Amino acid sequence: MKTHYRVVVIGGGIVGTSILYHLTRKGWTDIALIERAELTAGSTWHAAAGFHALNADPNVAALQTYTINLYREIEKESGQSVGMHMPGGYSIATSPQRWEWLQAESAIYETLGIGARLVTPEEIVAECPIVAPEGLLGGLFDPHEGAVDPHGTTHAFAIAARQRGADVVLRNRVLAIAPHPGGGWRLETEQGPVIAEHVVNAAGLWARRVGNMVGLDLPLTPMSHHYLITEDLPALLAMDHEMPCVTDLEGFTYLQQERKGVILGVYERDPRHWKVEGADWDYGMDLLPEDIDRIAPELSIGFERFPCLQDAGIRKWVNGAFTFTPDGNPLVGPVPGLKHFWSACGCMSGFSQGGAIGLVIANWMVDGDPGMDIFGMDVARYGAFASNDRYLRDTTAQFYRRRFVMAYPNEELPAGRPLKMTPSYDAQAAAGARFGVVWGTESPQYYATNEPDFVDPPSARRADCHRFVAAEVAATRSAAGLLDAGVYARYEVTGRGAAAWLDGLLANSLPTEGRVRLAPMLAPSGKLMGDLTVARLGPEQFWLVGSYYLQEWHQRWFHEHLPANAVASGSVQITNLSESWLAFSLSGPKSREILAALTRADVSTAALPFLGISRMDVGPTQAVVVRMSLTGELGYEITVPAAQQRALWQALMAAGTPQGMLPIGMRAQDSLRLEKAYGVWSLEFAPSYTPAMSGLDKFIAWDKGEFIGRAAALQQRGKTPDQQLVLLSIDSHDADVLGREPVFSAGERVGFVTSGTYGHHVKQSLALAYVDSACLAAGAKDLSVAIIGQPRPARWLRELPYDPKGTRLRA
Ligand SMILES: Cc1cc2nc3c(=O)[nH]c(=O)nc-3n(C[C@H](O)[C@H](O)[C@H](O)COP(=O)(O)OP(=O)(O)OC[C@H]3O[C@@H](n4cnc5c(N)ncnc54)[C@H](O)[C@@H]3O)c2cc1C
Repeated sequence: MKTHYRVVVIGGGIVGTSILYHLTRKGWTDIALIERAELTAGSTWHAAAGFHALNADPNVAALQTYTINLYREIEKESGQSVGMHMPGGYSIATSPQRWEWLQAESAIYETLGIGARLVTPEEIVAECPIVAPEGLLGGLFDPHEGAVDPHGTTHAFAIAARQRGADVVLRNRVLAIAPHPGGGWRLETEQGPVIAEHVVNAAGLWARRVGNMVGLDLPLTPMSHHYLITEDLPALLAMDHEMPCVTDLEGFTYLQQERKGVILGVYERDPRHWKVEGADWDYGMDLLPEDIDRIAPELSIGFERFPCLQDAGIRKWVNGAFTFTPDGNPLVGPVPGLKHFWSACGCMSGFSQGGAIGLVIANWMVDGDPGMDIFGMDVARYGAFASNDRYLRDTTAQFYRRRFVMAYPNEELPAGRPLKMTPSYDAQAAAGARFGVVWGTESPQYYATNEPDFVDPPSARRADCHRFVAAEVAATRSAAGLLDAGVYARYEVTGRGAAAWLDGLLANSLPTEGRVRLAPMLAPSGKLMGDLTVARLGPEQFWLVGSYYLQEWHQRWFHEHLPANAVASGSVQITNLSESWLAFSLSGPKSREILAALTRADVSTAALPFLGISRMDVGPTQAVVVRMSLTGELGYEITVPAAQQRALWQALMAAGTPQGMLPIGMRAQDSLRLEKAYGVWSLEFAPSYTPAMSGLDKFIAWDKGEFIGRAAALQQRGKTPDQQLVLLSIDSHDADVLGREPVFSAGERVGFVTSGTYGHHVKQSLALAYVDSACLAAGAKDLSVAIIGQPRPARWLRELPYDPKGTRLRA
């Protein structure tokens, strides 16, 4: 081991070795992996090591496909067998709801080009003769399902990395990590100190403890997991090819062939955490004692679905631990606030995702950009709230027991809630609010007014709450709607360097004092990094407003792009106001009247025009009022110190209710924004898309001088992008799109849906979609969109269905 490295990766599991390999592929060889014991000594050695491409997050699904495609390559390069076998796998449905859900999923996987296909019960039983046919309705076949040898695969990555120049240091625990005075990090290890420019935490079961070494508390926890391996089965002995894998979605089990027997794994409904703080340092390559009584209910369902297992000999029980995060995806990327400290942990699916994590970390470290939209696995998607032990236990247990359970679009899951509540939470609940959760904060989805016992059954079709949403949309279009906008993030940027810094960060031109602008933010690649609004409250005082759940992500970007001299001189200060200032969005034709009744300030268009901002008293509160809305109506965003938010609610409700105003939730907001084709972050706007594709290029100030991403964006300027964001109307009377459905023209796939819902005012099922420019140029004829797997005719709406000239917004 040398005393200095450019990168030290801590942990020799499937994830750490993949990172080491990918860094060498990018040409970085002054790097080392330091492992406490032997390679694979954490979760990796006892994994069933199954893999699949399917994932609820399409970007993660694409990365899983990358991982799978890498196995043959790495085997060839290293000369080490990875023991790969890929017979494909069936996810089976035994209830009509599940079968319908699989049909919808299948259409979405078509968008991703994964090649999964729907199959009949007959095919499943013919290919997998140990499956009982009773109750089988069909399945989804994923050709990319299989398994590898965990030991061989980990060693293959390590061998290939070594061959390319990396060091692998075994039996050397990292004991402590501290910032190095000359930059980078100093690691104390059992074999002596090491200085590294970058450190990667790939410590798996110990990752929370390794995070603690630098003052981090990562939201991950180990949980125990069982599988059994049978002796040879006569049915498999009689087969001359490998049986595909089977996941019984209602049975909580997965099964894969292991020699001439099978592995049967269980996601039980009564899961157990193990060492929430991380494994003990002296934990060896040991199994946990099996707890068969606890998993017996799910095992017995498994034994009914695979009846031959009832008489099979059990060769081995495995109960091992691996780590989970609240949403089941790993924690990857640069840790906000810790320069050159990287997270690559929380990975519950190392054999589907390990390769991709290596690719992403290497791209990000070497090129400064992960190379794709990986927000679904970004360590910056969580805030500190998620690391609370109770929150972690509740959310990870919820994820574990719902591993194969389908999630419906109108379902709000209960774990870890309520955690953060705005001051008017109780008052909103009393008014009938039904809450969803955004980044730990309760947010009204709709108001079941006067129906305290209303329950919305989970459904992939139009939900029963449709009628409440319809009333909220109608009130907003005819009178006013009051939306809790507490789930927006606000950052204040002040100081003599504030304007210059923001000018280089944002692609639009900065507003003058008292004005607001829409502010696209770009990456150096010219792709989108944000869809903020920027308000100028004073010569050196700005507010940036964006999506609430992106707080860590945005701030990491801001601080990464803050010049060292601005930090040293204090000429730019960034303060996160997201929890200390809260807003309501009041919109609709009567919103001015309602606001005017609560303030002495002049709120006429002359005094407060569209995209104007002004401080004023509103009822008993001291507010900052911006004239804008996401509903397409005349509207105001009224922001107050958090402690005054409840008083603001009371004042607005008292003034608005006699005018026909209703409190509205996020579902109504969605319907209203779709009628105006307004996109939102993560759906229409995301790091995969360019300003030209998304239409945000119209806000770019090309002539203002240098800003991040300008050079790349200029190259795209004036050129027709491959795909463009358009609004579609779909002939559908009982269901709307969920997102990611493929769009067809004359039967050929020409795009995909980003989001959609029912437009209650225009009475159409609407969807925003990225569609091939060539198809649009040819008139986008004979369009269709698969809703719950069934193609439905669609039309491109070249003109907005509601207020196309935007006169209501500017009224
Ligand atoms: C029973 C079971 C079945 C599973 N089945 C599957 C499956 O079918 N498919 C699938 O994809 N996944 C499966 N998994 C999960 C899979 O094992 C994990 O996703 C994967 O192993 C995680 O790899 P890792 O590299 O992140 O962590 P680990 O394998 O835990 O590796 C971390 C390494 O870091 C080292 N380390 C920790 N702290 C230090 C330190 N301070 N200094 C130096 N080194 C340190 C450890 O010794 C260890 O070797 C299963 C897991 C179990 C237990």
